[in-house]
Amino acid sequence: MDVHKLKSNLLVAYIMRFYYLTLRFFYLCAMWNKNDIKYFRRVLLEWIGSNKRDFPWRNEGVSNYELILSEILLQRTKAETVSKYYDTFFKKYPNWEKLIMATNKDLEEILKPLGLHTQRAIRISRIIQEYKDKDGFLPQNKDELLESSFASLYISNAYELFILKHRAALLDVNMSRVLSRFFYPKEFKDVRNDVLIQELAHNVINVKDCKELNWAILDFAALVCKAQKPKCYDCKLNLKCCFFEISKNNIEDETEEPQLSIKYDSGIPLNTDKPLKVVSLFSGCGGMDLGFEGDLIVHKDSINETINPDFIEENLSHDYVRLKSTKFQTVFANDILYEARKAWVNYFKKKGYSSEAYHIESIVDLVKLHKMGEKIFPDNVDVVTGGFPCQDFSLAGKRNGFNSHKDHNGKIIKTEIPSVETRGQLYMWLKEVIEITKPKIFIAENVKGLVNLTNVKDIIQKDFSTASGNGYLVLNPIVLHAADYGVPQSRERVIFIGIKKSELNLKALRELSKSQINEEYNPYPMPTHAFKATGKNLKHPVKLSSIFNGLLEPDKTSDPSQKYFSKAKFMGKHCQGQTEINMNGIGPTIRAEHHGNIEFRRLSIENGGKQIDELTKKNLKERRLTPRECALIQTFPPDYEFVIPASGSRFFISASAAYKIIGNAVPPLLAYHIATRIEKLWSLYFNKELNGSIVKSRTKQADIPVTTG
Ligand code: SF4
Repeated sequence: MDVHKLKSNLLVAYIMRFYYLTLRFFYLCAMWNKNDIKYFRRVLLEWIGSNKRDFPWRNEGVSNYELILSEILLQRTKAETVSKYYDTFFKKYPNWEKLIMATNKDLEEILKPLGLHTQRAIRISRIIQEYKDKDGFLPQNKDELLESSFASLYISNAYELFILKHRAALLDVNMSRVLSRFFYPKEFKDVRNDVLIQELAHNVINVKDCKELNWAILDFAALVCKAQKPKCYDCKLNLKCCFFEISKNNIEDETEEPQLSIKYDSGIPLNTDKPLKVVSLFSGCGGMDLGFEGDLIVHKDSINETINPDFIEENLSHDYVRLKSTKFQTVFANDILYEARKAWVNYFKKKGYSSEAYHIESIVDLVKLHKMGEKIFPDNVDVVTGGFPCQDFSLAGKRNGFNSHKDHNGKIIKTEIPSVETRGQLYMWLKEVIEITKPKIFIAENVKGLVNLTNVKDIIQKDFSTASGNGYLVLNPIVLHAADYGVPQSRERVIFIGIKKSELNLKALRELSKSQINEEYNPYPMPTHAFKATGKNLKHPVKLSSIFNGLLEPDKTSDPSQKYFSKAKFMGKHCQGQTEINMNGIGPTIRAEHHGNIEFRRLSIENGGKQIDELTKKNLKERRLTPRECALIQTFPPDYEFVIPASGSRFFISASAAYKIIGNAVPPLLAYHIATRIEKLWSLYFNKELNGSIVKSRTKQADIPVTTG
């Protein structure tokens, strides 16, 4: 290429770059008002003056070595947790000289209490390697930094800020949340791929007090603008916050986030009519908890009064009934899904339950914190329940079983071989909770598919029975078909029941140890409906036409769970979820997948629809099941709110999220059968009488207008 041509190409490139930067400048100025950025900085720098969190890595004079290693410890972990653990690591590895002697195994061992130990050990090993390769010389400028392994460890911004003393943003999900809420509410994107948020963050922190401002934003994210329930009404930024502006009428003035140091026994008042304390794990939106609590509304056809004459508390309209309350009270619930917690808290607060009962941290993190001295789990627990994650055993999933490809926070594992922290082995953490809380009984639930995986059922049963030094009698797990218990759904679940041997009276221990348990002592409930079950006095399976009676079509209802639904088009019969439900039979398995996998309430005639009357006489259109219909098939009460709109087109719980939490749940009525059976056997097993009368609750209905009949 000749020199002139090269020069002219360079000139064109230069001009284009100039135009690009000018356009970008005006674009960004239009998006973010300079005054808003100034206001944001001023408020936060004032706020941090009296709210700064105190952490060891923020102390004056902390070494570069500690700063770099702290960043690895802080990844995906709460600062408070790292702060407590900090000395454990730095006492053993106070400097580079000690650290470079550590093997990967040593690192994993010391990092175990903090979690994510395999990933962290790999990252630290890479730093050690870099340190060795460069004879102890660390990157001295941005170019060297970008070529080093620090850049790929997602700590380059911290390195730039703290060590190279450049103005860099400590941009992570928390900072991204505050900035995007304040400047331009939007869907969350991975910050590493979101150029807009990177530009905004750089603009905001580009001041002399850059380090202080970074810390201010992070502390503000942790204490005020939290992921869930931001304290908008107390927030000093709310005058100009976009998120607050568009959603202020819908932001609930909710109670405080659960604090990890809560003393549960004093924090949650125990209802004396419900003396048996339940710790619920993997709670989701509370299918198991609803059943254990009782006092829920189900269709009358779902109850066999010949077999269970004592179930119904009162008759309601539309052939719905309210079931009696039980003696069980949920004092602790947990799940990692925000929408599940939102739905759970929203329903249970109507029964007077505090949101503090529900913990959004993963079971792995909760157990670790408990072992590090935090008071996480309550004392005097009677029952532990847990439908541990089933995707890895389910027919609908990849059936990886124990070798799950996701971790306990539901994130894909890329580099790690499956460990006890992977999703498929989370039942081991359920076992840890059993060892901590020592309940009299535990109930673990999973998909039927687990039984068909080689040895999996036996391994889990054996692992459970070793809890507390072989302290539990774990009965042979039984597969229950929900339709045999009045649930209008084709759903089979395997139920493990373990009972603490030292609490059982001798006669009960003997009876329960038999390979064929005498009916009088059998904790598995008797079927009430004849779907797969056979026997005397069984009712017919519940039809969908019964439970949908009284439901309005989506365009006629004011119930958001009936109004918003998947509009995914029919994809042809060969795909999953493309069939029309049979109104004269039970419903399909409600799965946790969504959108195009939700079965059709009715198909058009061209697509093979059979509900001719609805299509021709009533002129109703082809559509998929709504979240409300899926929830009724699962026997959730009609007063349970799933879809919760915020403002405009925003949702606290969208239809898509609602399908997921409904599909993940244990059918509440199936759980009620298990709970009431165990309640009946309590004094027979443990020689302990249960006092207190059943409380009638005050929940009000939301959609099907069920009223006292
Ligand atoms: S008003 Fe609410 S959303 Fe906005 S910055 Fe404050 S806490 Fe965050």
